[in-house]
Amino acid sequence: MVTGHAFNWSILFLITAPYVIVGAIGGWLFYRYRRGSGSVLPILRRAFRLRCPRCGGGALYSGWFAMYPRCAACGFRYEREQGYFVGAIYANYALTVGVAAGAVVALDWTIGLTLTEQLAVGIALSALVPVIFFRHSRSLWLGINYLLTSAEEAEDGAS
Ligand SMILES: [Zn+2]
Repeated sequence: MVTGHAFNWSILFLITAPYVIVGAIGGWLFYRYRRGSGSVLPILRRAFRLRCPRCGGGALYSGWFAMYPRCAACGFRYEREQGYFVGAIYANYALTVGVAAGAVVALDWTIGLTLTEQLAVGIALSALVPVIFFRHSRSLWLGINYLLTSAEEAEDGAS
C-alpha cells in the first residue's frame, strides 16, 4: 500500500505545517521576551483585547468582522497591503485543528463516541472555532507583525 502511505504523509504534513509556523513564532516571541525587550507582553495583551498594537488605545473592529482601516487614537494603519492577513489564517487553522481534534479525542476517551458523533463534533467545531477566533487570530497576527517591524525600526535607529 505505497499510495496509502503517501496519502497519510501528505495529510500529516498539511496538519503539522501550521503548527511548525505557529511554534516558530511562539519560540521567537519567547526569545524576545527572555532577552528582556519589554514590548512583547503589552503588545500581546493589546492583541487579546483587540486593541491597536502600537498605542493600545484604538479599537481594531467596528463589528464582528469589520475592521477599522487605521487606529482612531494614533493613526496606525491596520491592513498594510492586500493579503496582509493571510498569515492569520495559519494561526486560526492551527487552533481549529487543535480544538476540534482535541475535543473529539477527549470525548471519545471519556464518554466514548460513535463515528457519526465524532464526525458531528469535529465538523461542528471546525465550522465554529474559525468564526469565534477570527478577530483574535487577526489581532494576534497584527501584534506579531508589529513586534517584528518595530524591532527592525529600533535596530535601524540604533545603527
Ligand atoms: Zn493606536
